[in-house]
Amino acid sequence: MENLSHCTICNSTNTRHFLECEDHFVTGEEFNISICNDCGFHFTNPRPEHSAISPYYNSEEYISHSRTKSGMVNRLFHLARKYTMGRKKNIVIKYSSGRHLLDYGCGTGEFLNSLKKSSWTVSGVEPNAIARKMALEDYKLDIKDEADFENINAGSLDIITLWHVLEHIYPIHDRLISFSEKLKEDGILIAAVPNMKSLDARKYGRYWAAWDVPRHIHHFDRTSIEDLFKTHGFHLISVRPMLLDAFYISMLSEKYKSGSSNILKAFFKGLQSNTSAFLNTGNYSSLIYIFKKSNKAVFSPPDE
Ligand SMILES: [Zn+2]
Repeated sequence: MENLSHCTICNSTNTRHFLECEDHFVTGEEFNISICNDCGFHFTNPRPEHSAISPYYNSEEYISHSRTKSGMVNRLFHLARKYTMGRKKNIVIKYSSGRHLLDYGCGTGEFLNSLKKSSWTVSGVEPNAIARKMALEDYKLDIKDEADFENINAGSLDIITLWHVLEHIYPIHDRLISFSEKLKEDGILIAAVPNMKSLDARKYGRYWAAWDVPRHIHHFDRTSIEDLFKTHGFHLISVRPMLLDAFYISMLSEKYKSGSSNILKAFFKGLQSNTSAFLNTGNYSSLIYIFKKSNKAVFSPPDE
């Protein structure tokens, strides 16, 4: 395990314990989340070394999820994905001025395929070899692994999307620098991440499924993600909700808390979270952030 003595975003050593939680999805191991007293950022600490994280991605579970349609959870997952896919596409079309898109962490390529069918030039990066193979078989998509990402030409992309991916990235500063390099001037970066300030996060506490430790190593809210991107020369132009995440995350959280999905209770909690966000806070369970490259990066690498 890697013990972090400093904040992963601002490098401050002024941090404290925030929450104990568990890897409910794969190992049942306990992890902690720390908070930075200076910038307010939350991060998993200790966390597995980067080289030791793959066993925590029970890849068969992740992938079978996307092809299997049996069972209530999977049926709901597929319905949700169809709706979410449409929304993602509409947002990308609305904000991008060109049609060269890279989906970073593209999984088995469903989103890329739907854009390819609409005559977009698409590329993808995915660390999981099984997912890459499925993307090739199912959609003829040639997906790159993380090492190949650096070979993409600078200034060649109109838009980069990261759908629930940013919270998993270890070298987050290096990646944001690369994303900025690969984008054209005025390029767009879209990142969807769970929102730790949502009502469902507060209600479920340590059982909130979107902590998803240790796979999620960064835990964002609106302020922390905006601050992070600003240091890398991006400015926030819009924030949009992912309405179905409140229901899906509540369902998983119910399962983690009580051992059963409690569909009705989860539905009510999800509805409550969305209503509270809609009426008051804007803090939906997950948020989609739309950033524009502005070339005023102020990030300086931490001293070793
Ligand atoms: Zn910090």
